[in-house]
Amino acid sequence: EESVVECDTLVLGAGPGGYTAAFRAADLGQKIVLVERYPVLGGVCLNVGCIPSKALLHAARVVTDAADMSDRGIRFGEPEIDTVRLNEWKQDVVNKLTDGLSALARARRITVLHGIGQFSDSHEVEVSGQKEKWRVRFKNAIIAAGSSAVKLPGFPYGHPALVDSTGALQLDGIPGRMLVIGGGIIGLEMACVYDALGSRVTVAEFSEGIIPSADRDVISPLLERITGRYEAVYTGTRVARLEESGKQLVATFEGVGAPAKPQTFDQVLVAVGRHPNGRSVGAEKAGVMIDERGFIPVNRRQQTNIPHIYAIGDICGEPMLAHKASYEGRIAAEAIAGLQTEYDALTVPSVAYTDPEIAWMGLTEREADKKGIPYEKSVFPWNASGRALTMGRPDGVTKLLWSRQDGRLLGAAIAGTNAGELLSETTLALEMGADLEDIALTMHPHPSLSETVLFASEVGLGTVTDLY
Ligand code: FAD
Repeated sequence: EESVVECDTLVLGAGPGGYTAAFRAADLGQKIVLVERYPVLGGVCLNVGCIPSKALLHAARVVTDAADMSDRGIRFGEPEIDTVRLNEWKQDVVNKLTDGLSALARARRITVLHGIGQFSDSHEVEVSGQKEKWRVRFKNAIIAAGSSAVKLPGFPYGHPALVDSTGALQLDGIPGRMLVIGGGIIGLEMACVYDALGSRVTVAEFSEGIIPSADRDVISPLLERITGRYEAVYTGTRVARLEESGKQLVATFEGVGAPAKPQTFDQVLVAVGRHPNGRSVGAEKAGVMIDERGFIPVNRRQQTNIPHIYAIGDICGEPMLAHKASYEGRIAAEAIAGLQTEYDALTVPSVAYTDPEIAWMGLTEREADKKGIPYEKSVFPWNASGRALTMGRPDGVTKLLWSRQDGRLLGAAIAGTNAGELLSETTLALEMGADLEDIALTMHPHPSLSETVLFASEVGLGTVTDLY
């Protein structure tokens, strides 16, 4: 059975980029077809990314916070962890959100087709569903097909102990010894979950340091905490071989920081990055250019080289983050509707929801040094924050970078509990062109972690009167 469907705008992929674009375009009066190969909307982020990982990280946080109270006068027993119930709760959260998206799509009269979409030419996508097939003819298209986990060649994929982030999010008991390959955001977030639930975690990262894109001084509170808790954190280390040994896997390491002997693990997570799905949508049949890494290049209105075909989200470039995808989705929808719009965000904030969290935006010192941009910095250590001390978590730091010429904020980085929430004040400050004085003259509630931003600005201005 094949039917033909006509629309103004076809959106390929229903992740945060795709559904945002589809909703905005529908609200602007267009007839929309949204194509998604999964049976639910929400993409990686809602189903197997941001949301389920944050549910598990919350559980992890409760366990470690409870344990941290034991020498402060409150002792709980050993936590009893029921992974079946925990998975159910996590899935309930996901379902609430994905059901909500379906309702929002229905309310906007968006046609949702579940199947794999492939361009057949520059005005048509063929969609193959489980039973049905559709030919969707469109005036405009938005490619929002996202990214997939990178696989390491030669590894025994199919072995139950070898998982990617999707497998790691589906708790199947709690492994005794776990190896996390890749010390980036995704790997370290999962390491944090399994450590709290009782696994003995080893992290192996190829670069010199974990989370390579952030400055080293803001990484150090995280590094200190995890080197204290985990079995090992190897940097400058490659897992050269991974071999089956019954139910377990044996890893052989290589590199400057590597252990000499092979080690045996009950579970191995590969989190070495994600690659864009540019080559999997038949874009070349529509004449859409794809670069050598699989990204689809776009201009500031999210247009590809074919002007009526747009691309957004993970598929069109780094950083691969949900809020960048939805921001770009809005632009593509508005550009198609003929509105004056273009990508003009000054920064894409990044957050590792580890314990402690690491969050940064704008310029980093490393980038500034590389580009020769002159800057000043001020750093406020959380062990002088009253609020951080009352939470028993003085392991944090708030850093501001600003312009030597006019004092305007250039970047910020925060390590500590809730750093991800705290970062947004600095992002707004950057977008509004605020300088250090603007921050220093803004009253912040006391005692709060947000005060560390105020204190860092006062340190920078040399107007510190008291730190608490
Ligand atoms: P996706 O969410 O990847 O959606 C693309 C959709 O297109 C998918 O549903 C896919 O099924 C569909 N599709 C692809 N090809 C086809 C086709 N040919 N036909 C039909 N459908 C197709 N980001 C954050 O900002 N914060 C976080 O905390 C965070 N945590 C993460 C945790 C994990 C474990 C992972 C893996 C990722 C995380 N990310 C996080 C990244 C975030 O998930 C992505 O940046 C985001 O999902 C990108 O959105 P997107 O719309 O570009 O694509």
